Amino acid sequence: MLKNSTRLLSAASKAVSPRLARNTVQRALRNNSKPHQVSVTSAPTQRQAATRAFTTSTLRFNSQTASATSTTTGAHKHDANQPKVQLTSDNTTVTLTPPPSSRYYRAHQPSTVLDALWLRDNCPCEECIHPSTRQKLHASTQVPLDISVSSWEVQPEGLALTWSKGLEDVGDWEDPAKGQPGHRSFYPWEMILGSYGGTPEEHRATSRMNHAPKLWDTVTMEKQVLWLDYKEYMETSQGLLKAVKHLQDYGLFFLKNMPTNDDEIATAAERIGHLRHTFYGRTWDVKSVPNAKNIAYTNLNLGLHMDLLYMEAPPGLQLLHSLENSVPGGTSIFMDSFKAVELLKQEHPADYEILTKTPITFHYKNNQHHLHFNRPTIALDPNNSTMIVNYAPPFQGPVELPADQMKAFYAALKKFAAYIERPDLQYRHTMRPGECMVFANRRVLHARTAFDPSKGNRHLKGCYVDLDMFKDKYRTMIQAERDGTL
Ligand SMILES: [Zn+2]
Repeated sequence: MLKNSTRLLSAASKAVSPRLARNTVQRALRNNSKPHQVSVTSAPTQRQAATRAFTTSTLRFNSQTASATSTTTGAHKHDANQPKVQLTSDNTTVTLTPPPSSRYYRAHQPSTVLDALWLRDNCPCEECIHPSTRQKLHASTQVPLDISVSSWEVQPEGLALTWSKGLEDVGDWEDPAKGQPGHRSFYPWEMILGSYGGTPEEHRATSRMNHAPKLWDTVTMEKQVLWLDYKEYMETSQGLLKAVKHLQDYGLFFLKNMPTNDDEIATAAERIGHLRHTFYGRTWDVKSVPNAKNIAYTNLNLGLHMDLLYMEAPPGLQLLHSLENSVPGGTSIFMDSFKAVELLKQEHPADYEILTKTPITFHYKNNQHHLHFNRPTIALDPNNSTMIVNYAPPFQGPVELPADQMKAFYAALKKFAAYIERPDLQYRHTMRPGECMVFANRRVLHARTAFDPSKGNRHLKGCYVDLDMFKDKYRTMIQAERDGTL
């Protein structure tokens, strides 16, 4: 037994690469720890665990010692938080079972099963992910379909694997060095049990911070509405964090005390991300003009809608800044379309189904432009754990459906519109100069009541930001808040 463990230890010292050791030291240093020898029998703290990863590793060569259901033994047996690791007899599937005391434990799915193809493809080492670009250096198609684990080692910080085969050459993706077997991979628990533990839905929710939106009606929004001082929003991280959290949760917030300069809207938008330029310009003016080329530029009542659904990628955020408002009327109305979808799905499931399947035509054909896009009223995107609503009556073109499907479609759309028009689901506010509304254009519908332009001036300045820019800001800020670096 002693002889055997000596052999294993010496194999381990060869098997753990200098870079792996270096990375572990760097991680340990980041955790404010000094590399030092730690007794394997002491209770492992997080810091000690980081150090122990390269001081007392026990590499197990499964051809010799690991059976079909090998679990961690020996030096780490005492560690109550260590996940149990099992490989199938062909070494192509790894099952990880963290104990209930582990922070990675999920009662509804105690084990996470990972395939060898996925593990090899997603090796996070510096040969596989470029250290500065953080982008992959091989293609998924280079992983041999019959690859398997040739040795494995449970370390306090994660799982180390070596591979039976090198990568294959595919087209221009070739690298003789990577064609050799024996590549070593190290997967931190945070990666394989944290970000990618549990179900694919959980991966998406965890790694992309796609938590469910908080649906609202009038009462909820009147309680939850966020009016943020412009200075706080522009000058403090906490102010911006409040704003992006509110956008993620409710799809809407307001700024107040914003200077009424013509281009201030661009400054406010760029606090979140780049402006989205469209054929309406970098920013645009909403005021009543003669012979308007868009219904927004009239004094007419403009019903609840979303902007630019006739484009392939309608912008995710819209900002509207009030520069002047001395007219009677012109009240802004907002409505959470996700709430309408929820109600429709509960109360009229057949109509809900029709609206998820029937493409609507959205177009803008005027003024030397012809834009056109077809999309269903309710679109589910399970790959991204999102729902998208497409609702913009003024910008609809003729629906392209067989005649015998028209009545069912029109009936379903009427049911949906009845929720959208319910006053108890809407939030109303008449913008005063120096106020700005920021809302999620793919979720929160906006409208304006008619106004009388002969009795004063109404001037709003608007611009768009893509949803990607907002999500980017949101995720990096939430991460910074978690890391304590905000
Ligand atoms: Zn690698």
